Amino acid sequence: TPTRSRSPKLPSHSISSTSINAIGDSLSTWSPDSWREKEVHHQIVQYEEKDAPVLESVLGKLGRLPPLVTDGEVWKLRQQLAEVAQGQRFLLQGGDCAEIFDYCEKTQIESKLKVLLQMSLIIIWGGRTAITRIARMAGQYAKPRSSPNETINGNTFPSFRGDNVNGIGLDQRTPNPSRLLDAYFHSAATMNYVRGLLGSGFADLHHPDAWNLDQWKFKHVQNPAIKEDYQRVVNRLEDALDFMRVIGADRDSTSASTNPALANDASFSPTQTVDFFISHEGLLLPYETTLTRSLPSSSPLAAQHTHYNASTHFLWLGDRTRNLSGAHVEYFRGIANPIGVKISSTMKPEELVELLNVLDPFNEVGKVTLISRYGCKKVGQFLPGHIQAVKGTAHKVVWCCDPMHGNTVTTAQGVKTRRFEDIVEELMTTFQIHASNGSRLNGVHFELTGDAVTETVGGSMELTEEDLARNYTSFCDPRLNYEQSLDIAFLIAKYYEG
Ligand code: PEP
Ligand code: MN
Repeated sequence: TPTRSRSPKLPSHSISSTSINAIGDSLSTWSPDSWREKEVHHQIVQYEEKDAPVLESVLGKLGRLPPLVTDGEVWKLRQQLAEVAQGQRFLLQGGDCAEIFDYCEKTQIESKLKVLLQMSLIIIWGGRTAITRIARMAGQYAKPRSSPNETINGNTFPSFRGDNVNGIGLDQRTPNPSRLLDAYFHSAATMNYVRGLLGSGFADLHHPDAWNLDQWKFKHVQNPAIKEDYQRVVNRLEDALDFMRVIGADRDSTSASTNPALANDASFSPTQTVDFFISHEGLLLPYETTLTRSLPSSSPLAAQHTHYNASTHFLWLGDRTRNLSGAHVEYFRGIANPIGVKISSTMKPEELVELLNVLDPFNEVGKVTLISRYGCKKVGQFLPGHIQAVKGTAHKVVWCCDPMHGNTVTTAQGVKTRRFEDIVEELMTTFQIHASNGSRLNGVHFELTGDAVTETVGGSMELTEEDLARNYTSFCDPRLNYEQSLDIAFLIAKYYEG
């Protein structure tokens, strides 16, 4: 087909030519709208009839607005994820469960960027590995909900479905189509500030706001042994950074490979910035479709695809929308972006293989990231079968662990929380199961924030259920706070240290 003959530039590891011949024309039946013929498996947003003209004009406008991300950036991420899939890099993905338009504000954006950068530095150091950072940010607005309604004080209201559908306020629960346009502009403003920060040295290792490790006094750490442990890691990290600064390795691109803290991380460039990608769950298909754009024929992505999603670099399919026959899978199979798929205990190994055949017909390395989220009690039962099923195929996926979503519990007071020890147990078990099945865990996926929230119990600050009431601000799932996020990064670093 014309779309496949466009670019000769694809590196050989990214595509297997035999698979093209075998499944070659599978995308000829795909278009950005072909999902409309399929069943939408999660609660469709029903706008009121009177809103039809607004919806039409909003979608028309979204269709004309410029891409939020470029195909060049998407290609760069595809290449990095190919390295992740081959064990040459580690993936760190994290951010809010439900991003709220109000989070589009200077300090919140800075604190999220900061926690992800600090976590990545600790993991780079501990794992001696390059890292790829993908934020759940600048567009993570749409939320799948277990129930279309919720009861508050005996009254029933439509559930909050994310800021691009309806509002959290009880008087704003009717879906409002103009929120789709608000979503675009909040994504754009968030991304604009992230780009500005990174472009002006926020990730520079000399930048005091992002990298003042003095602030890591670990005052919050309750257990003295853990405190000592962390301090030891930070001392060594600081030593490495000092050494680099003294010899100028942090300023000299030619010495990047001798840089002890950032060894192998080509993404810490001589201009002292880092690659930082964004992602969201691809749930609201009308929104995703209007932001799906055709690829220029010069793009290496055009070798296999005609279109990419220009609203974000990376899009994932939720556990509730990954049905083989459904509209979401239909949409996802055609876009050139790297895509994630949440997998849980309800996924049968043979179904996983079928799904990969649909989503990755060309066997492109790292095209699909499998984000496993079983829960700490189930991971041992289900992960080995999934690993073996994928090993029996030609698909080369990124294996990523989301130790959050299978570990959500409700306290006796009715508060949705997660236990830090369950999160760590699922994560560490996942590392081990991959290793003992001749596989490798390539990345991690967390719900986190840079702020001092109290939503997850445990961690080195030993938050209790009583603490939850103090600063619980999530509008959806409980996140790791700043300290708990760093706890996780230290634990990953320690895992690699052995
Ligand atoms: C999420 O990532 O916020 C989410 C809803 O996850 P899952 O689809 O795995 O339940
Ligand atoms: Mn969530």
